[in-house]
Amino acid sequence: PIVSEKILEAVNEQELIDLAKEKGAAGINIAGLCCTGNELMMRKGIPMAGNHLMTELAIITGAVELIVVDYQCIMPSLVQVGNCYHTKMITTADKARFTGADHVKFEMHNGMEQARKVVKMAIERYSMRNPDRVEIPGEPVDIMTGFSNEALLEAFGGSLTPLIDAIKAGKVRGAVGIVGCNNPKYKHDYCNVNLTRELIKKDILVIVTGCVTTAAGKAGLLVPEAIEQAGPGLKEICGNLGIPPVIHMGSCVDNARILQLAALLANEIGVSISDLPLAASSPEWYSEKAATIGTYAVASGIYTHLGHPPNITGSPIVTNLALGGLDDLVGACFAIEPDPFKAAKLIDERIKLKRKGLGLEE
Ligand code: SF4
Repeated sequence: PIVSEKILEAVNEQELIDLAKEKGAAGINIAGLCCTGNELMMRKGIPMAGNHLMTELAIITGAVELIVVDYQCIMPSLVQVGNCYHTKMITTADKARFTGADHVKFEMHNGMEQARKVVKMAIERYSMRNPDRVEIPGEPVDIMTGFSNEALLEAFGGSLTPLIDAIKAGKVRGAVGIVGCNNPKYKHDYCNVNLTRELIKKDILVIVTGCVTTAAGKAGLLVPEAIEQAGPGLKEICGNLGIPPVIHMGSCVDNARILQLAALLANEIGVSISDLPLAASSPEWYSEKAATIGTYAVASGIYTHLGHPPNITGSPIVTNLALGGLDDLVGACFAIEPDPFKAAKLIDERIKLKRKGLGLEE
C-alpha cells in the first residue's frame, strides 16, 4: 500500500512537522478509515477513525484538513460533505477519480514526493479550520492488533500444535473469519457485532479484517478482557495466551492470510481445508470485492455466510449451485442469512458437522 505507507513516512518528517507547528498546529495527526486504515493499524499501530459508514462522521468533526483516497470504498459524495467544512479530498489513482477532488497521482517512482505534496496541502489548510465547528464526540477505545500469521504463531509458542490441541479438546471448537463492509441496508455494525458475540460465546475463535474490525473494536471485542464474553474453552485458551477472542488480521486484502492460516492448519493435521471446522462470513457486505473474497473462500473449501445474496438470484441454476451444489464440487457453499443470531446457528451447525467428520466431539 504505497499511498498510506508514504504518507505515514511524510507526516513523520521533521521538516513537515515544523511547518505544521509554524501554522499553529500541535503536530500532524493521521487516522485511518476503511481498509487503508486497517493496513496502517495492523502494521503500524496507527489508530482508526472509523469504518465504511463512518467516513462522513469523520469529516463532520470539523478536524480533518484532508482525506486521501487510495482507490476504493470511499463514497464520491464525500467531496460535497467535505465542501461543507474545510476538508479537501485527494484522489491518487487514475482508476478512481472523483468529481470535485484534486488528483495527485501516486506511482511507484514518485510516492514519497507525492506524499510530501499531499501532507503540505493538508498543513496549508489548517488555518481554514474553524475551532467553533470542531466537535470530536466519544472516547477512543483500545484494541489489540498486529496479528499476522507470524505473530499468531509466535503467540502459540512457534507452532500450531497448541491451537490444534485446543481444537481437538473442543476448547476452541472452530474458527470463523468475519470480514467485510457496512451496508446501509442494515443498522450500522449490528450484524457484524452480534454475529461475532454469538460465535465467541460458542467457543468459536473469530478473526476479523476490514470494516468489521472497527465494529468489533467499538464493541470492546478486540481486547484481552473480551474473553469474559467468550465461552469457557475459548476464554481459557485466549486467557492463557493474553490475546482477545477476536483477532484482527488486517484489511480486506489480508483475507488471503486467513486462508494461508487455514492451509497451514490443514497441512499440519493432514486433511483438506474443507474438512476443518472453519467458516467465513461477511454479514454486511456491500463491495463487489467482498463477494469475490467469499467466492475464493468457498472455492478453497470454506463454508461462507453472506447477509444478503449477490445479484445472482435471477438464475435458479446459479443460485442453487452457490447455495448447495458447490458443496459436492469443492466441499463448501454459500449460506444467506440476514439475521446474525440465525447466522450464528447455521455456522455452528456447520462446525459441528466438520468436527464430527474429524472424529471430534461436537
Ligand atoms: S471492501 Fe468492505 S470491508 Fe473493505 S474497506 Fe470496503 S467497505 Fe470496508
